[in-house]
Amino acid sequence: MTKRLWIDTVGCQMNVLDSELVVAALRRQGWQMAQSPADADAVFYNTCSVRQHAEDKVYSALGRVRAEKAKRPELVVGVLGCMAQKDQELVRKRAPWVDLVVGPGQLHRVPALIDGVLAGSGPMIEVSLDRAAGSRESVARSFESYDPDRDPEMRPTPFQAFVRTQTGCDKFCAFCVVPRVRGPEQARPPAAILAEARKLVDEGCREITLIGQTVNSYRWSEEGRTTRLSDLLVDLDAIDGLDRIRFVTNYPRDMTDDLIHAVRDLPKVCHYLHVPAQHGSDDVLKRMKRGYTIGEYLEMHGRLMEAIPHAAVTSDFIVGFCGETDDEFGLMLDLVQNLRFKNSFIFKYSPRPGTKAFQRQPDDVPEAVKKERHRLLLEAQTEASLSGNVAMVGTRQKVLVEGISRRDEKQLTRDGLDGSSETDLQLSGRTMCDRIVVFDAPQRLIGRIVDVDILAAGPWAVSGTLALEGSPQEPALDEPLVHSIAMPTPSGKQAGHANPA
Ligand code: SF4
Repeated sequence: MTKRLWIDTVGCQMNVLDSELVVAALRRQGWQMAQSPADADAVFYNTCSVRQHAEDKVYSALGRVRAEKAKRPELVVGVLGCMAQKDQELVRKRAPWVDLVVGPGQLHRVPALIDGVLAGSGPMIEVSLDRAAGSRESVARSFESYDPDRDPEMRPTPFQAFVRTQTGCDKFCAFCVVPRVRGPEQARPPAAILAEARKLVDEGCREITLIGQTVNSYRWSEEGRTTRLSDLLVDLDAIDGLDRIRFVTNYPRDMTDDLIHAVRDLPKVCHYLHVPAQHGSDDVLKRMKRGYTIGEYLEMHGRLMEAIPHAAVTSDFIVGFCGETDDEFGLMLDLVQNLRFKNSFIFKYSPRPGTKAFQRQPDDVPEAVKKERHRLLLEAQTEASLSGNVAMVGTRQKVLVEGISRRDEKQLTRDGLDGSSETDLQLSGRTMCDRIVVFDAPQRLIGRIVDVDILAAGPWAVSGTLALEGSPQEPALDEPLVHSIAMPTPSGKQAGHANPA
């Protein structure tokens, strides 16, 4: 009998891709997607450890599935990803009804592991080596990159796909658990990345997003030649049938001129750059061990804007990091007001076991202060986002139509709207600068690039009207910047944030 899988994903694009690949591997073995955990033979949580809140969500979900497992002991419950690698046995101590704990470096083992559990093997924990458990090489070997072929119908949309350039991270920022749970930085060979991209395009993919924890640190050396991210972009840009190339997330110090010039010169590369500053104070950046000063960030930002004046630059910020004073917070606020990022992911500091900050720096900013600073920074960012969007009103933009807007998707489910392909619904898509555009049009346009005249703007999106079909395709007008919205996971849930970098 066909077995059904439910998978819930939290975290960054890396997790979204991992879930997609695990689902693809299981579907190849005959599994189908379930409508809910109650309808599933296996329930997986692909987890994130970047913030405590993400872990709390998974433990709550595990609490909710406990009753189902008690009713149906044959139900396989699995915890995958970063929390599995970080907590290992602790997951089963806190939730003994979990059958599988599988770290991100062991995902290729999931089909065999699930078969084992179904055959009565009992619970299994498959994780990679801890960062301090051996040489860099031996730890790296224990984190296997997992990039099998995907069938087109297994991707969240047939016209968009994530492609991994590298796994892991060696930067060791004081607050970040990624180098521990995702292992040492390991690049994929350029030939493998390009072959995957060509296959995706042959299957109808029009937009590829390259993902790496610090994607712009990408380097691959072979036979005396080093391939950088900018070289990869040149080769991807030459693929017939591919329309758009994006990449996330960028580490500020590795934003080199060759990369900036590739973004400027290659017509398919989106002028959208997520380059997290994390803070606006040199003292805090030093405590965070970010490896650059605000002066260096500003210099990088200046080079970028000089080369591509309309580029969309976005950032991440952590408020309330250990010892953050009012003055230090003020410097972060100044940075957001001055650089006018198109968008920022703003988080309250959350201490992470296993990080340098957790071991050596007290989490001494009161929660109420963190909350207020979060509010103030978000207010400043919202104002900057709105003014950038308002500047788009009156322009015509090329929009890749991604799907039905959330508003109409809800209405379709609730009121049973006519969802035929010719009925006008509110659709949602993105510009080359990743700006979200909503407009009324027939569903058959999903997956196509259309011209939209922008009529109104809000802080998170702009709205417009479809330019007449067959009208000349005008070049995209200059536009400032946006942020990335996670793609739906195979279970239809959204992931919560960009890759940290
Ligand atoms: S914040 Fe980014 S660069 Fe720093 S350790 Fe984490 S993943 Fe690496």
